[in-house]
Amino acid sequence: MMNLLRQNREIWDLYTRKEEYEETDRDRYDRFPYYLSRHRDVLVPRASQMLMENGFCCEYPESQPFSICLTHDIDTIYQPFFVKGFEVVKALRERDLSRAGHIIPQLRSKKRPKWNFREITELEESYGACSSFYFLALEKGAREYTYAIEDLEQEICTLQDKGWEVGLHGGCEAYCDLDSLMREKQNLEKVLNRKIVGFRNHFLKFRVPETWELLERAGFLYDTTLGYPDSVGFRNGMCHPFWPFNLNTGRKMEILEIPLVVMDRTLLLHMRLSLEQAWGQMERLLDTIERHHGVITILWHNDFMTGTSLQFYRKILKYGHDKGAWMTGGKEIEAWWKKNGMQAPLAP
Ligand SMILES: [Zn+2]
Repeated sequence: MMNLLRQNREIWDLYTRKEEYEETDRDRYDRFPYYLSRHRDVLVPRASQMLMENGFCCEYPESQPFSICLTHDIDTIYQPFFVKGFEVVKALRERDLSRAGHIIPQLRSKKRPKWNFREITELEESYGACSSFYFLALEKGAREYTYAIEDLEQEICTLQDKGWEVGLHGGCEAYCDLDSLMREKQNLEKVLNRKIVGFRNHFLKFRVPETWELLERAGFLYDTTLGYPDSVGFRNGMCHPFWPFNLNTGRKMEILEIPLVVMDRTLLLHMRLSLEQAWGQMERLLDTIERHHGVITILWHNDFMTGTSLQFYRKILKYGHDKGAWMTGGKEIEAWWKKNGMQAPLAP
């Protein structure tokens, strides 16, 4: 597979993310954004396409035609105090005393949980799907600390017992600092009482190839951070999981990348599409994945599970269900890929 990709310079550079090894500008979250990439056709999985054209193929359990990898990053679980406060002010201004009276008592309790995990799993279950939840496991005082993972012991153990995956959502330093990464992994494993294998970094912070190297050393089996924050699509031209190639060491790495294709905020906010346009884009991506028998990784935050964005998520589940797609989390895909992967064409 590597040898084939290597034959086309441009595709090899795209596949290995060569441009990210160079000294380059980055955004304020230390990310390499799509607008800096010289590979402009992000919606075409050029590397996967080349492999398929040369006889590579992949299969999924029960002959399902393609896979939707469903994931959730849990950034916040409590509704911020000011949001509630704002709602009261709004209700009072609209002279809606009963609504204001309903919200005011909630202001007193410090912890207003947004533990909608059960609603999410039930929704997915109704479409024959399951997913991965990535939790922050930061210590109090850390940047981006918003909840104590210990407080969620019961919730995350329930998720795991039901068959949903619990993985690590790396904090602001985890992607570039082994100590932070290890500490957060241990914090989560202690609460879960089980080894965790899956990872995505907060804000999609990622460094090629350093983050992969750190994750390898920390004992993760897969990462699913590699997608662009400012555009949906295929950051390295793959619409299949792959073992990254490290250009510094000249070797294939021991961590599977399940590339991120669609993040909720990217599609519904950053790309400035109307709702209909966003769905049109989503359908085109799903169609591309189906044609390549690929895996489309979708990130839907738990705080996007209301109103129109919840409806949008439900529409994705329905689409996948109707198409007979394998809708599952990263851990199952990793295990399947290790066993079956992408098969090279048989020699004539
Ligand atoms: Zn996050």
